[in-house]
Amino acid sequence: MYTDESKILETVQNISSTVVAEDAEATDRLARWPERSLRSFQKEGLGGLTVPVEYGGLGQGTKTLAKVCEIIGQSCTSTAICYGMHAVGSAVIASKATDYQQEKYLTPICEGRHLTSIALNETGSGSQFYLPQTRMQYHSESEYNINGAKSFVLNGGKADSYIISAVAEGSHTPGEQFNCFMINADAAGIQWGERWKGIGLRGDSSRDLFLDSVKIPDKNILGQFGDQIWYVFNVITPYFLTAMAGSYLGIARAAINEVTHHIKNREFSFNGRALASSSVIQYQLGALWAKYARSRALVYYATECYDMDQDNALIDLFAAKAEVADATIEIVNEAITLCGGYAYQEKSILDLLLRDARAAHVMTPTADILRVWTGRSILEQPLLADT
Ligand SMILES: Cc1cc2nc3c(=O)[nH]c(=O)nc-3n(C[C@H](O)[C@H](O)[C@H](O)COP(=O)(O)OP(=O)(O)OC[C@H]3O[C@@H](n4cnc5c(N)ncnc54)[C@H](O)[C@@H]3O)c2cc1C
Repeated sequence: MYTDESKILETVQNISSTVVAEDAEATDRLARWPERSLRSFQKEGLGGLTVPVEYGGLGQGTKTLAKVCEIIGQSCTSTAICYGMHAVGSAVIASKATDYQQEKYLTPICEGRHLTSIALNETGSGSQFYLPQTRMQYHSESEYNINGAKSFVLNGGKADSYIISAVAEGSHTPGEQFNCFMINADAAGIQWGERWKGIGLRGDSSRDLFLDSVKIPDKNILGQFGDQIWYVFNVITPYFLTAMAGSYLGIARAAINEVTHHIKNREFSFNGRALASSSVIQYQLGALWAKYARSRALVYYATECYDMDQDNALIDLFAAKAEVADATIEIVNEAITLCGGYAYQEKSILDLLLRDARAAHVMTPTADILRVWTGRSILEQPLLADT
């Protein structure tokens, strides 16, 4: 077990520049879930990255998660997002784990035997991922019945458990209370839809999940009954924004690496000069780097504030994720311009990075929503005012 950040990052770097990089092209081309890469992280003790040391994990917070996802994202965004989602889920379970949940989920997660994921999103509420229409009804003394459908579930059909959200209904439960709970992959009544065929993130195994009278024991409920909003804004959102921001920073860095490599090697035969000697190109590359470094600094600052439990850390996390989303899309776009026709071809590295980067504006909380939340937080207005 190693809890030193530099050792963790070194291990992540080793796996990312070998296994993850080797599988990246096939992950995209075949839309294949990056199993070998994810198992490599688990095998090297990285399954419990965000689980506290007292539960057997590596005890890392959001800042390390951002760095880890950035390293993986430089080799393969699908892998970074799949690993990131597992790390977010692990942090969510750990935040108020009972003895049962510790033994059932956190121990195998830390031992590299269990992958988890999060299924909050539903077609009916879209970007308002915190407003599920899935219902949980009292079934017996210690059991609930779950009915509903989740969409875009990452690691769908591949993880060992899923964190689900639902609203309680019926006379035996405090009605209209939102809850989060664990569902095991082998629970009766679960059905998976087709894989979502995205233009990017093609290895992430995003699928619809149908829940037809799925029984869950009450010990699978996370925290107290009615705690969903606490989970959403205290753990899920901060860790999720961080994992996404880190993965997108990885894309931005990979695009800068690619453009640098191209510029260094592009020579014109008519005058024997290298593209790298043009001061316009040098200036543009410098501007791309500044954009990347600026948004990375904001992510590190915001995650540090969150890890230190500072007031208002969430405002900076909202702002950081929105800035990274914009910066990454702009950087990849500009990188294509700088690389010219070479980049503007099917199956170029920048083609893949552009398809992956576009998810930064699509996956909720989107940049638009995050900026609204940032403004509302500054104005001390209710975050969910228009729901
Ligand atoms: C590849 C992929 C993987 C995903 N993985 C997961 C996962 O593992 N788990 C999970 O729970 N979810 C996941 N999601 C779901 C995702 O996070 C979003 O919830 C979903 O994409 C947004 O819903 P929608 O597509 O229906 O967009 P819509 O809700 O229809 O939104 C369309 C546009 O309107 C804007 N909009 C909507 N409402 C508002 C508002 N109130 N204010 C301002 N703007 C608004 C949005 O920003 C967006 O630009 C995934 C999505 C994708 C694409």
